[in-house]
Amino acid sequence: MTTVVTRLGTLADAHGRVARDLRMSLTDRCNLRCTYCMPADGLAWLPTPEVLTDAEVVRLIGVAVGLLGVRKIRFTGGEPLLRRGLAGIIAGARALRTDEGLSPELSLTTNGIGLDHRVSELAAAGLQRVNISLDSLDRERYAILARRDRLDEVLDGLAAADATGLRPVKVNAVVMRGVNEVDVVPLAEFCLQLGYRLRFIEQMPIGPQHGWDRASMVPAAEILELLGGHFTLSPAPGRGSAPAEEWLVAGGDCHPSGTVGVIASVTGPFCATCDRTRLTADGQVRTCLFSLTETDLRTPLRSGATDEDLAELWTGAHRGKWAGHSIGRAGFRQPDRTMSAIGG
Ligand code: SF4
Repeated sequence: MTTVVTRLGTLADAHGRVARDLRMSLTDRCNLRCTYCMPADGLAWLPTPEVLTDAEVVRLIGVAVGLLGVRKIRFTGGEPLLRRGLAGIIAGARALRTDEGLSPELSLTTNGIGLDHRVSELAAAGLQRVNISLDSLDRERYAILARRDRLDEVLDGLAAADATGLRPVKVNAVVMRGVNEVDVVPLAEFCLQLGYRLRFIEQMPIGPQHGWDRASMVPAAEILELLGGHFTLSPAPGRGSAPAEEWLVAGGDCHPSGTVGVIASVTGPFCATCDRTRLTADGQVRTCLFSLTETDLRTPLRSGATDEDLAELWTGAHRGKWAGHSIGRAGFRQPDRTMSAIGG
């Protein structure tokens, strides 16, 4: 069934940007406790009645795609694989048509645990690609960062995504000082050998209890230095609105040529070309990862608002989107909602 709706407009802001990419958080729960994202004991999860139902998620995605010009959906969490209705939500999104008359591009950000058991069902539902978090290939260091000894399951998830034909298979790795700098080169070799698109991410001040400390963040320049000491790198052309700065890697003795990316959210912000809008699992619009305010769509949705009403609210929120984050500048304040309840 194709869903056709009268268009309202686009999610334009006062800085000339238009949001085309919706990051849809499906849950704040996770089965890992990554040190840069979640306290060891977890967090107080969102009460279930406050979490959008599958039908509400698909309806709000329909508003974004059908009325507001969104063309890409990234399902995220917490850990979205913990959402039982994930395949149905993906199928509902796939049935939509963008302003270009196409199905929206559908991707998933996941820690990979259990992906091997679900990937063929998700691909059949319409999933096109995945971003899998993998900070180390060393079992011990993986367990230090994730606070769970589950590396094998992640590797199984990666292999299953690849075997199912999802493309590209992207790998996200956060580099933490004194923990996994030694993994930068082995991770790059591993991904080049298997054709996965690796991106290293600077740790951002959006983790638990406001515990971010710039000294423990490994900046992009240092990551590139580590890579440059082992690989021949050259800048890849054409970045567009993508967060990652991509580098071409020349082929070597034990790996083919390929690319590696670095997401320098802190030292090289890319806010000027940001095309993202976010919806939390409890139905709040966040115009930016670091937003200090949110716009509630859940309450009006449950009180009988029309799709057009919801679209107006969303458009209004986006009109007020700021130029970008102010990390490292006076006045920067970390949002109360942590990354685990916003999603990448
Ligand atoms: S920090 Fe905010 S404005 Fe900047 S790129 Fe990220 S979401 Fe966009």
